[in-house]
Amino acid sequence: MSKHSHAFQAEVAQLLHLVTHSLYSNPEIFLRELISNASDACDKLRFEAIADPALYGDQPGLEVRIGTDKGARTVTVTDTGIGMSEAEAIAHLGTIAKSGTREFMGKLSGDQKSDAQLIGQFGVGFYSGFIVADRITVESRRAGLPPEQGVRWSSTGAGEFEVEPLTREARGTSVTLHLREDALEFADPWRLKELVGKYSDHIALPIKMEGETWEEGKEEGQPGQMVKTGEWETVNQATALWTRPKKDITDEQYTQFYEQLAHDWQPPLTWSHNRVEGSTEYTQLLYVPSHAPMDLWDRDKARGVKLYVRRVFIMDDAEQLLPRYLRFVKGVVDSADLPLNVSRELLQESRDVKAIREGNTRRVLGLLEELAKADAPAAAPETAADVTDVTDKNAPATLAEDKYATFWREFGAVLKEGLGEDLTHRERIAKLLRYASTTTDSVSVSLADYKARMKEGQKAIYYITADSLAAARNSPQIEVFRKKGLEVLLMSDRVDEWALSYLQEFDGTPLQSVAKGAVDLGDLQDEAEKKAAEEAAESVKPLLEQLKQALKDEVEDVRVTTRLVDSPACLVVKDAGMSLQLARMLKQAGQKLPDTKPVLEINAEHPLVKKLDGHPRFDDLAHVLYDQALLAEGGLPEDPAAYVRRVNALLV
Ligand code: ADP
Ligand code: MG
Repeated sequence: MSKHSHAFQAEVAQLLHLVTHSLYSNPEIFLRELISNASDACDKLRFEAIADPALYGDQPGLEVRIGTDKGARTVTVTDTGIGMSEAEAIAHLGTIAKSGTREFMGKLSGDQKSDAQLIGQFGVGFYSGFIVADRITVESRRAGLPPEQGVRWSSTGAGEFEVEPLTREARGTSVTLHLREDALEFADPWRLKELVGKYSDHIALPIKMEGETWEEGKEEGQPGQMVKTGEWETVNQATALWTRPKKDITDEQYTQFYEQLAHDWQPPLTWSHNRVEGSTEYTQLLYVPSHAPMDLWDRDKARGVKLYVRRVFIMDDAEQLLPRYLRFVKGVVDSADLPLNVSRELLQESRDVKAIREGNTRRVLGLLEELAKADAPAAAPETAADVTDVTDKNAPATLAEDKYATFWREFGAVLKEGLGEDLTHRERIAKLLRYASTTTDSVSVSLADYKARMKEGQKAIYYITADSLAAARNSPQIEVFRKKGLEVLLMSDRVDEWALSYLQEFDGTPLQSVAKGAVDLGDLQDEAEKKAAEEAAESVKPLLEQLKQALKDEVEDVRVTTRLVDSPACLVVKDAGMSLQLARMLKQAGQKLPDTKPVLEINAEHPLVKKLDGHPRFDDLAHVLYDQALLAEGGLPEDPAAYVRRVNALLV
């Protein structure tokens, strides 16, 4: 069998170009990536060998070796993991399988500085080797295949790679980097050792390097030099961080572990590390990141908790370990009770897993409550106390002031999904909600804050949903609330309306959309106002009939309202109806909806409305009134040209 050339998939070529052009300022990350791949490969072998112990052959050890050759200018990272067959080498080192990566490529702007920042958050994997190498050779043999079925893969990182068969006694993979002229520092064992300590200390595998010793020059005047001793020493901690007692772990170590785990180089906001002993025993180490990953909105994809059973890696992204609405959490769960050969199907059934999921959920909500408390001492939530925390105090020592605000900005919209998804914890979630409102500019008002500020006689928590915050803030529906100094929560996340349909009340006070149903300010209106409103309503009665007639295709009803102050009209939906904005969104998404019409409410005291009566262009004016109300809440006139024509006719 001979050598074959293959072209890289287009995305790989693009990624390679980017890697070598934007990451040269931080070349050292290549080692972290190669070690992480080696560790993944060992995890995979350990996992496959549960079902097929013969895969170990006569080489039971799992380890990583980093070798250097100054003369040849190479670094080689060797593992005894699962290895790759020829087909796997072609597929895994020539194409990008992960949808996240492809999505990531789509986000690149072409601007090197911002792209470098993006890529820094992302982790570039195997191809980072090309930052320091002008040629990479991979030699590998898959566990279980005979020695003759090894493979050699090699590439200069420019467009294509070559693959040829190889006889290789050892199972696993060696990646050899032929270092560039400007990257020769990485042939120095001391430099590499430093990098292992920095990035890969907690990899739960021994990472070994060959010892060196100083040898004097053999003859007088000849310089001495470092020579290899032939002994391989372990240079990392090689224990899983979460198994160590909390008191022995520094914040810095927790943060480093997070970086490796999440491939996120920005420190997490907070974390919690506990050994839980209850109906089932497990260790949890859960982190709340400080920024949202690219695939946060992919509800099926992003899940960040790794499952281990008695320190054996079982699977990534174990979706049973946390509910979907907490999918931003990263971490590790190590169970003492689950069987090693647990499958995803089995996880769904397992009572142990249900207990772990519940424990994780409470722990994360507790973490968020702590952050919220640190940000705003006024809103003090209670914490669940039924998880045994066998170690001492958890959570990092310092909680900066605005951590909860950061959390909310990045993940608040995801947490809101919990209102609909998690009945058990709905009240706890409700306390964590934050909104913008008519009285503040920041998205920081909790429902409890709102309640504390409610006016005497006010019976509901008022809110409005719109396409954007600006649209909510300026919407005509809230005019009277403003005038009366009643706070209205402003919502513009896509999930808001759906989520709030699950939260009818907070702490005994109903939540009420100001864009649904008629306004009833009840006790908040004084007698004189009520009387004026009734009189106005009486006076425009004939007008209402005329409007109903003119707009019978557009609206279900026309009525007088007291909610408007400056605007002539607005659209509202019936009490239990879907907001116009949600209906629009669903229609755009291709959903068929029953044709429900809104209600047009008019401001009987507005000059424009007063002008309507007996106006020669009554029909045009009526339609303009309707179209403007539609525009004001974010919709578009059905027939924009007709709208323009009518307005122009009136202007002339
Ligand atoms: P990721 O590790 O995120 O999947 P990488 O670019 O680091 O992405 O690696 C690409 C793929 O190449 C891996 O998913 C794996 O299938 C394969 N691979 C890389 N290094 C090794 C290795 N040392 N042993 C076995 N397979 C490997
Ligand atoms: Mg990798």
